[in-house]
Amino acid sequence: MNDQLFDCGIAGGGLAGLTLAIQLAGAGYSVVLFEKEKYPFHKVCGEYISMESVDFLERLGLPLSAMDLPVINEVKISSPNGNSFTRKLDLGGFGISRFTLDSALAAIAKTKGVALLQGTKVTGIVFENDSFLMKTDQQTYRVKTAFGAYGKRSALDKKLNRNFLNPIHRKEKNYVAVKYHVKTDFPPNRIELHNFKDGYCGISKVDGDRYCLCYLTDSKNLKNNNNDIKLMEQNVLMKNPFLKKYFTDAVILYEQPLTISQITFGKKSTIENHVLMLGDAAGTITPLCGNGMSMAMHASFKAFGLTDKFLKGKITRQVLESSYSNEWNNLFLNRIKTGLFLQHLFGKNLLTNIAIGLLKRTPFVTDKLIKKTHGSKF
Ligand SMILES: Cc1cc2nc3c(=O)[nH]c(=O)nc-3n(C[C@H](O)[C@H](O)[C@H](O)COP(=O)(O)OP(=O)(O)OC[C@H]3O[C@@H](n4cnc5c(N)ncnc54)[C@H](O)[C@@H]3O)c2cc1C
Repeated sequence: MNDQLFDCGIAGGGLAGLTLAIQLAGAGYSVVLFEKEKYPFHKVCGEYISMESVDFLERLGLPLSAMDLPVINEVKISSPNGNSFTRKLDLGGFGISRFTLDSALAAIAKTKGVALLQGTKVTGIVFENDSFLMKTDQQTYRVKTAFGAYGKRSALDKKLNRNFLNPIHRKEKNYVAVKYHVKTDFPPNRIELHNFKDGYCGISKVDGDRYCLCYLTDSKNLKNNNNDIKLMEQNVLMKNPFLKKYFTDAVILYEQPLTISQITFGKKSTIENHVLMLGDAAGTITPLCGNGMSMAMHASFKAFGLTDKFLKGKITRQVLESSYSNEWNNLFLNRIKTGLFLQHLFGKNLLTNIAIGLLKRTPFVTDKLIKKTHGSKF
């Protein structure tokens, strides 16, 4: 057992965990952050960040404006049959790889005094005597407040006996996601979203001379192609003429694609046995919205404000939990629902072809839908 009583313990050092740790340590709290991987590392993600979090990241000390990042202000969407349209994005975003972003935030966290334990997996979180025990394979840590920022899926969900794992919710679809960094010829201010049967693929520029190409598909597509990614890309994705061009012409910069599986978009809880959940651990928005990263950071901003009050003795733990839940639901529930609706709309070949044909003719509807999946700067 580690001797120190930390003010805050965070399981998971992605965007939610890192930005929360930086804010808490910046306010003078002792913070221990556990990340099972070692920075820098690649992550499956489209790497397009909505502008709503740009000021927040700068405030945390990330010099985004000096990093020469691509600013993205238009979207091109195509249906499986190649019908396409382009729209200007009101808010827009910027491109940065998770390899660069997460490790830069980890460096800031360290300078703020966060005890950043890399290569350390949290194996259990137990609430007892008004504090938590956070267990790892090496040691157990006692903390006053505990946060679950460990992403979409972790063995910790099972340990915490989370309801979304209940077989009743298992009828939902399971998705797999694949990502490459590629070299290609492409306007740097554009994100493209190309649909294919039971999935979609996003492409946009990130830092350095490279583009992120990342897709999500119903796991059935992979099963139907002998669990062979290349075969699935040939048989399914490349039916879309835009994707055929990218998969034929682009230079792939990874030896092997980066993949994740068992992705679901079911409802989760924001509090689990007094642990505050944030980022994808609290609820996952479908990737086609390009808003999951900003939501994860925005949740950390809200969690920080309330935790600060709690640790100063201004509110009780009960108020901390209920206020956090309410704020989280107000901010994100509708976005998540709209994202799911869009993902279902783009679920089947014929439906997607029709939907994209309609959206092409009704640009104001497209703008409205994009707006409904985004928030404002915080
Ligand atoms: C295919 C795809 C494309 C996407 N594209 C975009 C996009 O373009 N724009 C966008 O805004 N969002 C996108 N998203 C969503 C975005 O990636 C997530 O919403 C965001 O990463 C959530 O951040 P997080 O901090 O909650 O989780 P993560 O970034 O996943 O971080 C969780 C961290 O916890 C660690 N961890 C897990 N278990 C443990 C444990 N037991 N102990 C210690 N550490 C642990 C993991 O290693 C990981 O580093 C996409 C998602 C997918 C699947």
